[in-house]
Amino acid sequence: MNRISHWVNNKVVAGTSGKSGKVFNPATGKQESEVDLANIADVDAAIASAKAAFPAWRATNLSRRAEIMFRMRELVDANRKELASLLTQEHGKVPSDALGEIARGLENIEFACGVPAMLKGGYSEQASTGVDVYSIRQPLGVVAGITPFNFPAMVPMWMFANAIMCGNTFILKPSEKDPSVSMFIADLLRQAGLPDGVYNVVHGDKVAVDRLLDHPDIAAVSFVGSTPIAKYVYETGTKNGKRVQALGGAKNHMLVLPDADLDMAADAAISAAYGSAGERCMAVSVVLAVDTVADALVEKIKTRVPNIKVGAGTDPASEMGPLISREHRDKVAGYVTGAAKEGAKVIIDGTDKAKDEGFFLNPSLIDHVKPGMKCYDEEIFGPVLAVMRVKSYDEGLQTINDNQFGNGTAIFTRDGGVARQFQYEVNVGMVGINVPIPVPVSYYSFGGWKASLFGDQHMYGPEGINFYTRGKVVTSRWPDPRTSQVDLGFPHSR
Ligand code: NAD
Repeated sequence: MNRISHWVNNKVVAGTSGKSGKVFNPATGKQESEVDLANIADVDAAIASAKAAFPAWRATNLSRRAEIMFRMRELVDANRKELASLLTQEHGKVPSDALGEIARGLENIEFACGVPAMLKGGYSEQASTGVDVYSIRQPLGVVAGITPFNFPAMVPMWMFANAIMCGNTFILKPSEKDPSVSMFIADLLRQAGLPDGVYNVVHGDKVAVDRLLDHPDIAAVSFVGSTPIAKYVYETGTKNGKRVQALGGAKNHMLVLPDADLDMAADAAISAAYGSAGERCMAVSVVLAVDTVADALVEKIKTRVPNIKVGAGTDPASEMGPLISREHRDKVAGYVTGAAKEGAKVIIDGTDKAKDEGFFLNPSLIDHVKPGMKCYDEEIFGPVLAVMRVKSYDEGLQTINDNQFGNGTAIFTRDGGVARQFQYEVNVGMVGINVPIPVPVSYYSFGGWKASLFGDQHMYGPEGINFYTRGKVVTSRWPDPRTSQVDLGFPHSR
């Protein structure tokens, strides 16, 4: 059985806990690997290595750091296929989706190559006579990233590239469900010339997470995952004096107005709801259809669903792969069965596929969904699209704003004025106008509102740089005996 161990000081290090987790190939339902689950001593060893590496890495000049990140960019680019096949093997996503994940992660590495330009401070000459004031940004020290199963390559890239370029050393605690890609990335960073201890990986569960949240040498934690755990990580980390950004779950609505191109809206809804088997925090899970076009829109979606080819990512024809685990697949199927009991209309029931060996479901489509139903109130995170009928733009907007989550949303319309009004008044962090999955490019920042984010800094882009650095302001005067005097008054400009 393949064994996946930790990565500390640029090499693979076996765990000492005696505890391990099972890693499956979701397309076959078979276990392929065993992953070490860290105990406190394993986590402490990684933190000690990151702490020891920090002074020299912080002192490494910006050009040298950028040179390493440029090399990393080339290595990821050259290894896209290998990375994608690891994603298919452990996560289940099909190659086109896996390659898309790598491409979006790579954008963050490319942004990070230019971090020196973001670290420029401000300078005020002659703030007072002979006195200059300037601001600088400095790294925090050892920072940690805790990541979910659904983007095992991209989400770590959101974090480590900027964290490292800002001069921090980094510990990744990836999802224990698909841990191999983080080890592949670790080895690429080593090949790129990253010194020992700057990037480390500890695999594990709550024990490892809790140690990262407790340990006094961890300065900051970036988390991406479900809302209950995000809230827990934020509350525990901040109570322990750490800087924390914790991104949580989602329920993303797509509002389709009567003037929208309905074919384009149906294509977009299908792509955004069922891509990656709905296991995306930016997936569209609810279509809000204005009454007058709802029947026509549901019909267009319904005729498209059977064309989606569900199958293993190793089959080039597959467009939608399996879910991550047997338990998760059964949970998702439960939402579809439950929806009918709650009075919604199941137009397409994809749960039959759950009889397969692999963790597959076919896409499901549920109409006449309402708040108060479980399939609306909770994040499903599977290939299930709910349609809710609303009377007007106003009712659609109100529905979105009343929802507990605020990660992404989209409006489909030809009316620029209404689209502008929507982006102005919707309480959601990332908005698409005729764009169903509005994941910001790397030079903006990623983050939701409400229960989709705990903390006040979004991830990557300019806010990522703020998160991984702290400001210092220096007020300086070079000795000039001509201006020297005793003055007991409060300092002010003269
Ligand atoms: P998860 O919350 O179960 O796990 C995320 C991380 O937390 C993993 O590393 C896991 O090992 C750890 N963890 C799990 N249970 C824990 C516990 N009790 N205590 C401490 N740590 C624990 O999430 P997941 O199932 O891996 O990922 C899917 C979720 O992530 C969905 O809710 C999805 O919306 C969300 N997500 C959000 C974003 C975003 O940007 N907002 C992006 C991707 C995924």
